[in-house]
Amino acid sequence: MKELTYHRATDATAAVALVSGDPDARFLGGGTNLVDHLKLGVTSPTTLVDVSRLPLDEVTELPDGGLRVGANVRNSDLASHPAVRRGWPVVTRALLSGASGQIRNQATTGGNLLQRTRCVYFQDVTTPCNKREPGTGCSAIGGYGRYNAILGASGSCVTTHPSDLAVGLAAVDATVVVLGPDGERRVPIGDFHRLPGDRPEQDTTLAHGELVTAVELPASPVAARSTYRKARDRASYAFALVSVAAGVELDGGRVRDVRIAWGGVAHKPWRAEVAEEALRGQYLGEDAVRQAAEAELEAAVTDEQTAYKVAMVRNLTALTLTSLAEGAAR
Ligand SMILES: Cc1cc2nc3c(=O)[nH]c(=O)nc-3n(C[C@H](O)[C@H](O)[C@H](O)COP(=O)(O)OP(=O)(O)OC[C@H]3O[C@@H](n4cnc5c(N)ncnc54)[C@H](O)[C@@H]3O)c2cc1C
Ligand code: SF4
Repeated sequence: MKELTYHRATDATAAVALVSGDPDARFLGGGTNLVDHLKLGVTSPTTLVDVSRLPLDEVTELPDGGLRVGANVRNSDLASHPAVRRGWPVVTRALLSGASGQIRNQATTGGNLLQRTRCVYFQDVTTPCNKREPGTGCSAIGGYGRYNAILGASGSCVTTHPSDLAVGLAAVDATVVVLGPDGERRVPIGDFHRLPGDRPEQDTTLAHGELVTAVELPASPVAARSTYRKARDRASYAFALVSVAAGVELDGGRVRDVRIAWGGVAHKPWRAEVAEEALRGQYLGEDAVRQAAEAELEAAVTDEQTAYKVAMVRNLTALTLTSLAEGAAR
């Protein structure tokens, strides 16, 4: 049997020192993802540093109208927070579309962003997987591929990012606050997760031992008129086939500003900037949104298992944005 040492951290700086000084140490948040991986043998750290009791569990209103969400705020608490529901409804809806009530009560904001892929081969230690064991190959290429990426994939890894919350945060330009051995740094959410390239084992741009301490949400008219839609195999308790986080600010029916992020299509939440640009200044109707989504999807690479995602994400984007426009007209 392999020994596993458990520390309950009471100080963030000390937790960072413990993990950054030991390549076999890991932070433990709510444990809903990491503990599964320990049981499956996907990861085998020798030390767990439990950061879930650190005093990072507050949602604080910032002087500029934004919100600072501590890394230990539980998914249920964040979803139901009145300021989030009012100013960032996309975050509430993204969270409520994920997992189950019990898991959301346990899962933390930091752990949710850092949960690992649900690729079936990643979780099956009997199969080759470059993300789990670099250099062994990718079983998903030519294997079971219904959940695979259609944008930004590489020959090393074709999996998709699993977090609904992260897709919501991508649409509101959130910032992730990180504490490392050399102090604090702030990472725009778009630079936090990575495309696979030839290093698919690195999900994010965090260095080993860097602790997520908070996420900051800037206030904007787009964030206040935002929502999240998710297409999945079952009505609950299922990861996204594709998902759309979107927000819009209208001026007499024309798009003054818009944000669109897609889940289930890439190794990271995919900000659809080509589509956003195509929509600015346009009247927001179904055809305009479909054309804008088509422009973004010109870069898509599909096979017979993933071709359905192109139509699905295009249609879901149109539904999401037109429902926001209808809400604005009422
Ligand atoms: C059955 C099931 C269904 C699910 N369905 C969905 C779904 O539909 N949508 C969805 O988005 N999610 C879903 N999830 C995933 C769930 O949301 C995640 O497991 C959860 O959010 C992870 O949070 P946690 O706090 O438990 O993280 P943990 O399991 O504790 O940690 C996850 C990772 O984050 C690291 N970590 C934790 N906290 C920090 C921190 N503060 N700083 C740095 N690193 C940290 C850990 O080292 C680990 O690598 C599902 C999970 C299950 C089991
Ligand atoms: S797609 Fe990525 S996670 Fe899945 S088997 Fe290939 S390398 Fe592993």
